[in-house]
Parts: sequence; structure tokens; C-alpha cells
Amino acid sequence: MHNLKNALFSLGVVFIAFLFSSSSHALEIKGVRFGAHGNAVRIVMDMDTTADFRAMAQENPTRIAVDLPLISGKPAIARSMLPPIVSDIRLEPLVTPTGTYSRMSLMLESKAVVRSAFMMPAEGKQLPRLVLDLAPASPESFAKQVGKAYGNLSIATAAATPAPAGKLPFAGIGGAKLEPIGKPESPKAPEELPLIVIDAGHGGQDSGAVQSGVREKDVTLAVARDLRTVLLATGKYRVELTRDKDIFIRLPERVRIGRRLGADLFISIHADSAPDAGSAAKGASFYTISETASDTLAAGLAARENQADMLAGVELPTEDKEVANILIDLTMRETVDQSRFFSGQLATAFRKNNLPLLESPRKSAGFVVLKAPDIPSVLIELGFLSNPDEAKKLTNNTYRTSLANSISAAVDAWFAAKKP
Ligand code: ZN
Repeated sequence: MHNLKNALFSLGVVFIAFLFSSSSHALEIKGVRFGAHGNAVRIVMDMDTTADFRAMAQENPTRIAVDLPLISGKPAIARSMLPPIVSDIRLEPLVTPTGTYSRMSLMLESKAVVRSAFMMPAEGKQLPRLVLDLAPASPESFAKQVGKAYGNLSIATAAATPAPAGKLPFAGIGGAKLEPIGKPESPKAPEELPLIVIDAGHGGQDSGAVQSGVREKDVTLAVARDLRTVLLATGKYRVELTRDKDIFIRLPERVRIGRRLGADLFISIHADSAPDAGSAAKGASFYTISETASDTLAAGLAARENQADMLAGVELPTEDKEVANILIDLTMRETVDQSRFFSGQLATAFRKNNLPLLESPRKSAGFVVLKAPDIPSVLIELGFLSNPDEAKKLTNNTYRTSLANSISAAVDAWFAAKKP
């Protein structure tokens, strides 16, 4: 069987240092990191600030062009450090009638397309950074992607300097022929819409929390279905559920379903219960993965949610233990950052719609169901079934719709930051 660890992008992570001359206002790229597995590549560009960008496949030669505001300095690069799929990186000025931008061209050994492109703000010690995921593509699907832009950089009358024939990275300025860049087609074909996988917590013999006759597994399925309806109505997403009926699914299998379907975002729906706090605890909370829990309540909650499999008396096979022990590597860290970004959008959307929240609604802990290394994943605790008022509300259609609307608004905000 395929070793799951091989599926990570983490192998062969290399660092490339850039040397810059200083310039006060231009964008500075502090470094470029690659995570590679086989032909799939994640590229992370650390920058001094977030910036608008545009990334797209280009032909003749085959490359991924990343357009950014004018980059300061003349970076040097060690080509021997490039991942297998990228033969060279070149930096050129992109001269347009409205201004000069910088184009970083990732020269490709074989056809590949942008699967995901995301500008992340600074967080903690992490610099602002652009994250690009490239995936191998057939000549046909590459051809379809040529000129389709990811990102929000708009260049009014765009013109591209074709990459020079020479092998030197970051070839110099001038002498390049200008050619127009095709506008991305829209609307997108249905199979290209982002895929949201909604995971209704618990199910089958695992009822989850049960309080005053309300079963968590019923609430989670009802909200998952409501959310599917709302998301599909936007016309912007494809939606799949890990379960659409009252069946038991082990936690690692839920993760596998998300990965097998190629989810762009994984949302696990739960409802909390705090027997010790009586009816006092109330409000929604949003959990992302971490090795150490943000607080003892989060740790206890993760332990309870992770027990779902144990309650059902199922022994975890070896491969699941590997999933459970995945290291926080480059890919995982970026995925975690994107997950946190989404949990922030959730908190914002819930506040905006006056839905009750825990005092500090964004938490983290070691939830098994959030351990996909490459899919941003958030677990939502909708509220407390141990609070009779909230238990009653969670069985109310109108309230559930407002929950679904708020989650959908957060999904919109998250993707808006990701793609035009
Ligand atoms: Zn639960």
C-alpha cells in the first residue's frame, strides 16, 4: 500500500536564499521554499508584505507565471535546489502601459497547472507569503488552463515578456517581445469549481452528545444538509458530505474521504456538551488542528470527539495511526495557517449575524478529523446541547439556516481572499 507519508509534500523541502539590493518601496521576496513529492510541488514565497498577485499557466515555453508588484533587487538563485518539476526560475519585468510589474516564471519540466494560490498575512513569526500549489496536468488540461489567472492582481492592459531562451535564472531586462495575456474564462466549468466537503459529526451507533432528547448526530447531519443547500445555491462551489445518512464512519475515513475527493476545504460539524458547566456554557466555537491544545477545555473536547471511534469499539489499523501521527511539516503548517484564516472568517461571520459565540471562539487541539495535511480543515462546534436553550435552537429550522448562512459567508470570504 502507498505509504501515506509519501503523499505529503514535505519531502525534499529546500530553501533558496535571495540576495537583494535595498529599495524602499518595491516588494521584497525574502525567500522561496519548495515542498515536493514526485511531480507535485508547493511553492512558498516569503515576502516583506502581502501583495496582489496573479498566477497562471503559460505556453512557449511551458511555465507558471507569477505576476507581482515590482520586486526590488536582483535575486540570485541556486538552480540545483529546485524541485523536479521546475527546471528554472526567472524574474523579468512585466512592462505594461500602466506600470511595470515583476514576473516570476517557474519554468516547467512537464505540464503542470496551478491547483491553488493563496496570499497569507503575517502571523506570529511567519512572514507574509504567497503559497502556490502546482499539480501535474495532461496536455489537454494544461491547454485549458493557459492564461487563466489565480489571484487578484489586475493589470489593465496586460503584456507579457516571453521568458528568454538562455538558461540563466533571472535573466536581465530588455529586448523581450510583448504578447497579450488571455483573460480568464468565466464562469468556471462545474468540474473546476472548488469542492467543499462537509463532515456531519458522529452517526450510526455513535450518537455524539445526547441532551434533553436531542442527539448531536442528528443536529450535525441537519446542519450539514442545510449548509450544502446554501453553498450550492451560490453557484460557486461543489459540495460533498462525508455522510448523508445515519451511518457510522471512523474519523480517519472521514479525512480520507476529503482527500480522495480532492477537497479544497473540509468543514466538520459538531455540537458541544459541557455537563460540568451545567447550562451556563453557550455559543459556537471553531477548532483548528494543533499538537498542543489551546486550553484545557479544547484538550478535553478533542479527547471526547476523538473517542468516537473507541466508543464504537473499532481498533485503528496501522495506516490510521500514521495519519494520526503526521508531523507538522511545511505543507501542514501552510494548511494550518489557511485553516486558521478560515476559522477567523467564521468568527467574523457569526459575529456579524449576531450568533452566540464562546468568549474566545477560536481554539486549537489535536482533532483526528482535522489531520489532512493538505486540506484546510476546521471543526465547528455549533453550540452546547447541554444548554437547554441552545439545544432547542439547534433543532429549529430558522436558527439552523442562519448558522448555514453564516458558515457560507465565511466560505465566500475565505475563497475571495484566495481567488478572484
Ligand atoms: Zn461531536
